[in-house]
Amino acid sequence: MTAALPALDPEPIAPAGLDELTDLVADGDVLVLSGAGLSTDSGIPDYRGATGSLRRHTPMTWQTFRRDPRGRHRYWARSYVGWPQMAAARPNAGHSAVARLQRAGLLGGVVTQNVDGLHQAAGARDVVELHGGLDRTVCLACGDVAPRAELHRRLRAANPHFGPRAGEVNPDGDAELPDDVLDGFVMVDCGACDGGPLKPDVVFFGETVPRDRVGGCFRMLEDAGSLLVLGSSLTVMSGYRFVLRAAELGIPVGVVNLGPTRGDAKVDVRVDAPLGAVLPELARRCGA
Ligand SMILES: [Zn+2]
Repeated sequence: MTAALPALDPEPIAPAGLDELTDLVADGDVLVLSGAGLSTDSGIPDYRGATGSLRRHTPMTWQTFRRDPRGRHRYWARSYVGWPQMAAARPNAGHSAVARLQRAGLLGGVVTQNVDGLHQAAGARDVVELHGGLDRTVCLACGDVAPRAELHRRLRAANPHFGPRAGEVNPDGDAELPDDVLDGFVMVDCGACDGGPLKPDVVFFGETVPRDRVGGCFRMLEDAGSLLVLGSSLTVMSGYRFVLRAAELGIPVGVVNLGPTRGDAKVDVRVDAPLGAVLPELARRCGA
């Protein structure tokens, strides 16, 4: 009878560029800019995936949400169905590694394009949500900001029999749902001003990120020793402009992303590998 072989420790991951990235991050004052690729391991699918192609489901635009009551109704019906899955999403090893790097004093700030709150759930502090957060709503009439969980309780009460299963949840938290099902959904309005239409407190496609929010992030970048882009293909300008600005300022840029990015020509260090493996190893190497 042969003895069972001892379990082997997993081979430490060492993709091309990780040594240089470790040197960059170990210098400190790193401004992190994260995108959807950081949250895919948490079950929140990336819009664009590694190849950069758009998924079949087109995200809601600000123009549709603002002008088309039926489009708004459709958004909220899908969002209502998808919310429990969004609310149940948990941070992954990549989010935890970022929080550890911050606790170790190596980060000058965390800016995210994600609206899922998973950096904060992993313990990161003072996270700037460039595109807002799905965990709250804002009234388009009076500006009242309220917890999304409160809206969900009100919607459950208003929709006791509305409960189709979610086949798929998109990064902005809405779900695939046949049109005929949508008609049975009852939306509620703002509870503070009694009648204003509610919007998730996120920046939709086609909507401008508030100027003071961008300005604050640019000031953080000006004070940073480096910019570290995590899980973004930099397809949208709201993220890409940080790389352009860093290049203008002579601030080195590192990128960890699975697949190519729009900023590759302007980047100093690139690691093309899964974030859930690279970031814990990076944190370990930095003593975080
Ligand atoms: Zn209101």
